[in-house]
Parts: sequence; C-alpha cells; structure tokens
Amino acid sequence: MARYTGSVCRLCRREGQKLFLKGERCYSDKCAIVRREYAPGQHGQGRKKVSEYGIQLRAKQKARRYYGILENQFYHYFELAGKMPGVPGENLLRLLECRLDNVVYRLGLASSRKEARQLVLHNHYTLNGKKVNIPSIQLKAGDVVAVANKSRSSEKIKAVVEANSARPTPKWLDFNSETLTGRVVELPNREDIDLDVAEHLIVELYSK
Ligand code: SF4
Repeated sequence: MARYTGSVCRLCRREGQKLFLKGERCYSDKCAIVRREYAPGQHGQGRKKVSEYGIQLRAKQKARRYYGILENQFYHYFELAGKMPGVPGENLLRLLECRLDNVVYRLGLASSRKEARQLVLHNHYTLNGKKVNIPSIQLKAGDVVAVANKSRSSEKIKAVVEANSARPTPKWLDFNSETLTGRVVELPNREDIDLDVAEHLIVELYSK
C-alpha cells in the first residue's frame, strides 16, 4: 500500500496550520507550527500572493493531508462522491470520515489517523466481531468497531486508549470505554465534521 513517508510536520507548515497528524506532540510546544509558523523550503517565508487555482489546490491538499490519502485515491473518492445523491463536497467528506482508520481515530482508539492505520493493519481491531486489517473499509450506520480480544492486554493499546480518553467522541459515533467498543450511530452530516476544509473549493478544482 503506497503511503507518504516524509515529515508530516512539513505538511502542516505547508498548509499554515495544525493538521494534528502526530498525536500528543501536536498539543505540545514541540509542535513545528508553534516553532516555525511559515511554509517549509527556501521560499517558505516569501510566498504571499496566491491565485484562485492556488487556493483551490491548498483546500484539496489540506483535506488529503488531514486524512492521509494519496492523490489517486483521493480523486477516486471525489468521483464516487459525484455519483452519490446530495452535495458532492459533503459526500466526499462523509466518505473520508467513514473510513475505518478515521473512525478508529475518532473513537480515541488511536492518537492520529496515521497511527490508526498502522494499528488496523496489525489486526488490533475487529469490525462487527470479525478480524479486519483494511484501513480504507467504508463503515455504515450500525457497524461496530472494537479492540480485538488479543490486543486488550497490549500495553501499547492501553497507553493509546489512556492518552486519548479525554478526546470527545463525535455525536455520530458512540463509544463504550469499558468494553472498548464503538458503534456508528448514523452517517455524519457536514456539521458533525469539525475540519476546517472548504470542500466546495475541492469540487471546483476537480471540475475544471
Ligand atoms: Fe502538525 Fe502535529 Fe507536527 Fe504540529 S506536531 S506540525 S500539528 S503534525
């Protein structure tokens, strides 16, 4: 599975804001955005004027980076969103939110989407009681995600759950901290997705 292997803090600096890609470090003063709030690279402090295309591109890149998705796969989601009833931009965000790795992160069972993806790949969770190791699986209302039995005693999983216990669960999900089980109550609406993404700009960009 192809994935981005460079510095994720560099991605935040490129977008000029925290994307929360590194778990706990993002909330500390070690965050690269706190230390160097300008774009990376030789011209990072000089870029000022942005074209309309540039604004649309940045909106798309930011969304892609929030979810850790590569370009081809992201475009695939866009095409899928366009074929669904409703507003394409909102459909796009809903498809991204309903990925298994994102739901694991939203439930507080991982510190970042990147960590969620790794933990899913290593079989630490079940979906509707069955083993699962595909981070991109789309969840639907009623689906149940749980920490796999063999992983409940894992120090790593215990530490992750503890570290994220204060993070609020979005209202479209329900989490039981006793059983380490989460359920998709309903598919999220746009107002349930707390990301600073202008999805209409992504649609404009891809519609050119
Ligand atoms: Fe982004 Fe987190 Fe790195 Fe800060 S620490 S720059 S929020 S990934």
